[in-house]
Amino acid sequence: MKVLVLNCGSSSLKYQLINLNDESVLCKGLVERIGIDGSILKHEKDGLDEKYVVEVAMNDHKEAIGHVLKAVADPKVGAVKEMSEIDAVGHRIVHGGEKFASSAVLTDEVIKAIEDCVELAPLHNPANLMGVDACKAILPDVPQVGVFDTAFHQSMPQESFLYGLPYELYTKYGIRRYGFHGVSHLYVSQKAAEMLGKAPEDLKIITCHLGNGASVTAVNGGKSVDTSMGLTPLEGLIMGTRCGDIDPAIVPLVMKKEGLDADGIDKLMNKESGVYGMTGISSDFRDIEDAANEGNERAKMTLDAYAQKVKKYIGAYAAEMNGVDAIVFTAGLGENGISMREMICKDMDFMGINLDLEKNNVRGKERIISSDDSKVKVLLIPTNEELMIARDTLNLVK
Ligand code: AMP
Repeated sequence: MKVLVLNCGSSSLKYQLINLNDESVLCKGLVERIGIDGSILKHEKDGLDEKYVVEVAMNDHKEAIGHVLKAVADPKVGAVKEMSEIDAVGHRIVHGGEKFASSAVLTDEVIKAIEDCVELAPLHNPANLMGVDACKAILPDVPQVGVFDTAFHQSMPQESFLYGLPYELYTKYGIRRYGFHGVSHLYVSQKAAEMLGKAPEDLKIITCHLGNGASVTAVNGGKSVDTSMGLTPLEGLIMGTRCGDIDPAIVPLVMKKEGLDADGIDKLMNKESGVYGMTGISSDFRDIEDAANEGNERAKMTLDAYAQKVKKYIGAYAAEMNGVDAIVFTAGLGENGISMREMICKDMDFMGINLDLEKNNVRGKERIISSDDSKVKVLLIPTNEELMIARDTLNLVK
């Protein structure tokens, strides 16, 4: 059984072809600058000396996916002899609103329901849908499945998802907290249970997905009970370029002071804030760590503020769940940021968190990084959203 996993952005797409018999990645790649001058496809396969690159105009997602399929079925660089070997396509869909608590086969009715969620994710859902449309046109007989970033968090109780706003805003417009990165939080929480030799139902886990976008989730008994992102992926932690939690009164104040309209303030909070806005250096933690090591005070202060915020959510979620058995770090910074993990876990021994600094001295490897006597286990688990999407797709089309 071979599943093509697609993650479509507005001008880019990532893909992986996964063999579900042994969960191996047969080939993978990335297309950038779709609909923009300089479209480029970079394709990789084990055993290829270097990436296979296609540089031709790709005016839309349909053309881009056409080139992806050509590469996937290419006799030299591909991984299948014929396109008919692709049994199903799994699409990452960012926002499923309240309509999807699990993945779904992409029937016309399901696609309509995803279109209804566009208002909640105007940047992401239209791009995801372009990928679905393109695949339906090119592979009309292959089943397609949507896997939602929001679905895992649909188990959150009302007290976690309601804002302190007039209730009618929820009933009229669906203004509530939804949460994101659900596929990643679910994957690492299940993997953590496996590594600890316990059933997810018997564990209270806090999963920290620290990438360019970042969120923390409280997973109690295998279910998401609270998460730091909200109606949109702007809420919660300080991120690469997103501000995370702020006093909402800042919005009208800065709009007046800086003469910004709604789009202007949205851009400021989504693209010009976070560690990028705080340091004025970069959204990449590697650059910020370098600057801090060279004595840049703003960089040091930013790293401290970032770590403090993650710590605050860990404390809050442990309180909400009446305890915590394990903390998981994943995604770019979570998997690679040795000093950031140390900063976050520092002085948490009061709640039984003891990081083993030697075990923590590793990047991107699945392992327990707390000391043997740490009451709360700390785990480093590289996320694998593509595999999760492929597994769900297989389950639905089987
Ligand atoms: P992601 O969105 O999961 O791809 O994560 C991307 C982020 O991970 C980058 O912006 C970096 O800040 C961070 N990152 C990646 N590698 C490292 C590293 N070796 N040390 C610290 N941060 C890293």
